[in-house]
Amino acid sequence: MNSFQKRIYLSPPHMGGHEKEFVEKAFADNWIAPLGPNVDSFERELADYVKVQGALALSSGTAAIHLALRLLEVGAGDWVFCSSLTFVASANPILYQGAVPVFIDSEPESWNMSPGALKQALKEAAFDGKLPKAVIVVNLYGQSADMATIIEICDQYRIPVIEDAAESLGATYKGKASGTLGRFGIYSFNGNKIITTSGGGMLVSDDLESLEKARFWATQARDAAKHYQHSDLGYNYRLSNILAGIGRGQLKVLEKRVEARRSNFNHYFSRLSDIDGIDFMPESVHGKSTRWLTALTIDPIKCGISAPQLVELLEKQNIEARAVWKPMHLQPLYQNFSYYPHQPDQSISGELFEKGICLPSGSNLTSTDRERVIECIRGIVKGPGK
Ligand SMILES: *Cc1c(COP(=O)(O)O)cnc(C)c1O
Repeated sequence: MNSFQKRIYLSPPHMGGHEKEFVEKAFADNWIAPLGPNVDSFERELADYVKVQGALALSSGTAAIHLALRLLEVGAGDWVFCSSLTFVASANPILYQGAVPVFIDSEPESWNMSPGALKQALKEAAFDGKLPKAVIVVNLYGQSADMATIIEICDQYRIPVIEDAAESLGATYKGKASGTLGRFGIYSFNGNKIITTSGGGMLVSDDLESLEKARFWATQARDAAKHYQHSDLGYNYRLSNILAGIGRGQLKVLEKRVEARRSNFNHYFSRLSDIDGIDFMPESVHGKSTRWLTALTIDPIKCGISAPQLVELLEKQNIEARAVWKPMHLQPLYQNFSYYPHQPDQSISGELFEKGICLPSGSNLTSTDRERVIECIRGIVKGPGK
């Protein structure tokens, strides 16, 4: 094998075929802008799919988190709890609002927020008389956090939960759509997500009044006056009618995309799980993961190679693998904020970062390419009988 082989991407876009019809209709009607029928329909169709009252189409998942924080009146100096093991976009809106993040570790069962660490953090916050205004729970790599347990803990302190389901659209938790369990849920249609609009996001909730408020803020908070008048601070956060057209086409194939990604996982699992020292991200008993990304950990002693080394060697074969997210409490930007580990002497997110790797997981990954990835890994990692 050599580096001239075709590049295998981690999670590239995968169009379903219907996207162009919606986009072309927008062109035919010259409805390039402003907001229009594709946006309205995309919101309705997604809300119906995940079974919530309402949805607000936005320019990004990050914008959706930002608006959710503002709806919960998070302001300067307030505390917001957030999963540590995540992409930086989960936490940045906390700083946009001038609030103070507190990071919560993962549990080994789902790699998502540790209910035990959350409980401890809330107990201490209550003791200090400084409870958070919101808890942002992230559903990592296509799998829901243990939402019922987390919400039960938060309810004891009357703290609302924002569910960052950017990576888990299409997953379920106890029969409900991932992203619909908290007060607000957010999805992302960034280029690497399970469905994409090239860039975009959605805020969902059963609280229609709040969604209307967010809609107002997302369109520059323009007062109902004949001239341009503004009493409140707004943003330019809405999704375009063109991109919403792509989203409508993508939504039609979401279920197929889930099945394809789960199939990737199952193949990787059946061909690599015999290697001593390789452990796949578990699927929790509470629901169905989309396996947005196939993630696994590598024991450097048993495998004779570390996760970062494996990523590098795969890169030499023109295969794009990635480290698991670097936890927020280890980021230079966030290292001075508080962090609550799973156990006083055990940080799960830190371990997952050191040992974790995500494999090419696109729904359009061919079985030949998948086999190439598997063969490369088997060739590199020293397993039993090698
Ligand atoms: C992708 C992602 C986001 C941000 O979504 P954008 O649409 O890119 O702004 C937020 N949280 C998580 C966990 C993500 O993976």
